[in-house]
Amino acid sequence: MDTQKSQNHGLHILFFPFMALSHMLPMLDMAKLFARRGVKVTIVTTPANAAHIQFTDKRLSVELELIPFPSSAVGLPDGCENLAAVHKEELHNNFMEAVAMLRQPFDQILLKLHPNAVIADNFLPWTIKLASNLGIPNLLFNSTGFFPLCVGNSMEKFNPGEEAESFVVPGLPHRIELLKSQLPEMSKLNPAFADLFTEIKEQEPRSYGTVVNSFYELEPDYVEHYRTVMGRRAWHIGPLFLCNENIDRDHSMREDECLAWLEEKQPGSVLYVCCGSLCAFSAEQLREMALGFEASKHPFIWVLPQVVENDEEMDWMPEGYVERIEGKGLIMRRWAPQVLTLKHRAVGGFLTHCGWNSILEAVSAGVVMVTWPLFAEQFYNERLIVDVLGIGVAVGSKDWTRECEKRSVIDAGVIEKAVTRLMSGGEEAEGMRKKARELAAMAKRAVEKGGSSDKDIGSLIHELLLLNQKTACV
Ligand code: UDP
Repeated sequence: MDTQKSQNHGLHILFFPFMALSHMLPMLDMAKLFARRGVKVTIVTTPANAAHIQFTDKRLSVELELIPFPSSAVGLPDGCENLAAVHKEELHNNFMEAVAMLRQPFDQILLKLHPNAVIADNFLPWTIKLASNLGIPNLLFNSTGFFPLCVGNSMEKFNPGEEAESFVVPGLPHRIELLKSQLPEMSKLNPAFADLFTEIKEQEPRSYGTVVNSFYELEPDYVEHYRTVMGRRAWHIGPLFLCNENIDRDHSMREDECLAWLEEKQPGSVLYVCCGSLCAFSAEQLREMALGFEASKHPFIWVLPQVVENDEEMDWMPEGYVERIEGKGLIMRRWAPQVLTLKHRAVGGFLTHCGWNSILEAVSAGVVMVTWPLFAEQFYNERLIVDVLGIGVAVGSKDWTRECEKRSVIDAGVIEKAVTRLMSGGEEAEGMRKKARELAAMAKRAVEKGGSSDKDIGSLIHELLLLNQKTACV
């Protein structure tokens, strides 16, 4: 470590996370990882987002550069600087408008600091041009995995045809079948995001390469496919949260309540239900979920997501529900300490929206999943869990849309069935658990010294150092 550290001295990397929690958290973990290897790290962010950044290890060389976020200029409340704080879909456009206004101040920071490399979130694709104007290599951080990147790439070139209801994605190492209704059509996207995805597509191939929060053993065929068939340079350096597990992640005050509740439960008996930081369900769907979880008779922790209306009143809740589930179900508002919860021995299953971070956290804890994708690349991720890895059961979500009222409602009985299939301890579920435990062991090994992710981050740093020396010689 010490030799590695002294070798890396002189390398200065600027990190620029996108202002959404699930993008920021892994990127901050990544910045710490580089800093622990002796790289000088500067993180660019906005004042309200700086509150999420805590580095208790003062020996690390980490600095912050703050850019004001123009919330009021685009009609957002003051201090609203993170996508997770923008609850109304129609305000996402305003948020992205404010993000686009960060170009100029970011350019000023580049000019001032002139780092040896930039690692920016791929939702900030304009950083590539700004950095390359100054001769600085720019890497993009992808907050998702190789599998969804490969499926997305195949889908760009393939049109399943008007008539087809379902189709097999061509050119991939496995047979991946999707419904047409599960595709992220541009027309269903918010205009600001549609423009962003077009820009990413154009700019990504011009970046120095991609840093991916994944580990080789999770999706070896797709790491190869991405590198050789798609011809992209990429480094797998995750699961990033595992690299910093014993350091400091911002856990909420509700941590004690949740973990104390789990202490009382049998090993492997609890279903943990959480759909990330950005999802919403209709009141009708929440009601079916409530009944489905209750009917499955397994204890559950349910992190309530955003609800469209009557958020505070919880009118959707079946009558007498809270009393009925007392001791059996723990309902948490908005946020739970997910990493710690998944690691708890009482947790035996995870109902997830298939966000990439959630998948990595479940895989690393050896927990099997009920999959309930909603939008983004979540339907692709579901296929990885269910078809490729064989560690989950699909609940049967069919509609790619961010608008929860437009999704067909999944009945309580269907939810109960999926939960029971996963949690009941039958042969199929035990097979899945075995595979999940094997993957968890591989995830841990990947980030240990000499593991696949540890080696890949080492070779990236080495390459950037050589590049830096070459540039210095010119
Ligand atoms: N998360 C958490 N507690 C919650 C909800 C989310 O700790 O109650 C964390 C979770 O551990 C993960 C991130 O928020 O690291 C969510 O990221 P993901 O990619 O799964 O989903 P997204 O929020 O982007 O939809």
